[in-house]
Amino acid sequence: MTPHDRATDEAGRIAALRRYDILDTPAEGAFDKITDLVRTLMGVPISAVSLIDGERQWFKSLAGLDTTETPRSIAFCDHAIRQDSPLVIPDAQADARFRDNPLVTGDPGIRSYAGVPLRTPDGYNVGSLCAIDTHARDFSPEQIAILQGLAPIVVEQMELRLLAERDGLSGALTRRAFVAAIDKQIALFARHQRPAALVLLDIDHFKRVNDGYGHPAGDRVIEAVAALCRALSRPSDSIGRLGGEEFGLLLPETSEADALAAARRFCDAVAALDIPHDPPLRVTASFGVAAIDPGRMSSQTWLADADAALYEAKRGGRNRVMLAPRRTLRAA
Ligand code: GH3
Ligand code: MG
Ligand code: MG
Repeated sequence: MTPHDRATDEAGRIAALRRYDILDTPAEGAFDKITDLVRTLMGVPISAVSLIDGERQWFKSLAGLDTTETPRSIAFCDHAIRQDSPLVIPDAQADARFRDNPLVTGDPGIRSYAGVPLRTPDGYNVGSLCAIDTHARDFSPEQIAILQGLAPIVVEQMELRLLAERDGLSGALTRRAFVAAIDKQIALFARHQRPAALVLLDIDHFKRVNDGYGHPAGDRVIEAVAALCRALSRPSDSIGRLGGEEFGLLLPETSEADALAAARRFCDAVAALDIPHDPPLRVTASFGVAAIDPGRMSSQTWLADADAALYEAKRGGRNRVMLAPRRTLRAA
């Protein structure tokens, strides 16, 4: 395939992006350090590692703005990935492609932009590393060279994180490693009918912690909840960080009733936890429990059923445990 074919091969590009299993994963320091560096070195207020999914741009890191994604149709970075050279826009208001863009006319008021594609080793542009300013400005060749130097480091980091088993902040398994553990448990059930249960937990009103006490305080809460899960679980259990403030516990050799009792213990313990901070912080969490079941023979359905129960716990008022109804009547 020639570079030109790759540029038009959208299905291949999406497959290349999906291979990284990175969309909708929690923030990671390595990427945030790079966007912070871009801000400092280029003197811009905003920098992003933007990944272009089918219909959206999702930010693995976004320094200087508080959002997680935008529609693809308005993404500057969607233009950046269509070329192999840097996309430089000194004044968006003077550029017919961007003049009417809502990111220019409204929040955050983008006025200038420089972006370099994130090119995978097999030649697909899956996103961009960019610098954004709210004033019209020129970017010097040295500043563009900074982006060009850092973009391949972002891609290397994306490759490296595929090898990582554990999440840096919480020490829990990465989503990918946790799903692998679930798949293994399903195989054990299929072969030996070994019981097991999945518990999902999501911290309640976590945004209030971030908004009220700052992101670093939020991080301390995530660490404390992860440490509590570890302290309360058995060495044979697996703990995974599935999202920002969402964790999964895989309990092998555990019946539905025992898993429910364990989740209730976890729920009470989270609510009773004093998280070191001035003032000490308190949070609660909601839990969804799903026992393994012949109707849950893929990690996707098992997780989806536990997630539906978690959603019910949220809907029911939070700080509680809900059990996913069995898909079949055969008891594990
Ligand atoms: P709910 O009770 O419905 O779960 O409310 P919530 O506020 O917890 O809702 P939601 O799940 O929408 O919010 C999660 C927030 O977690 C949003 C996001 O900014 C924040 N977050 C995600 N990852 C991290 C992280 O690594 N550190 C910190 N401090 N915050 C994070
Ligand atoms: Mg939450
Ligand atoms: Mg959540």
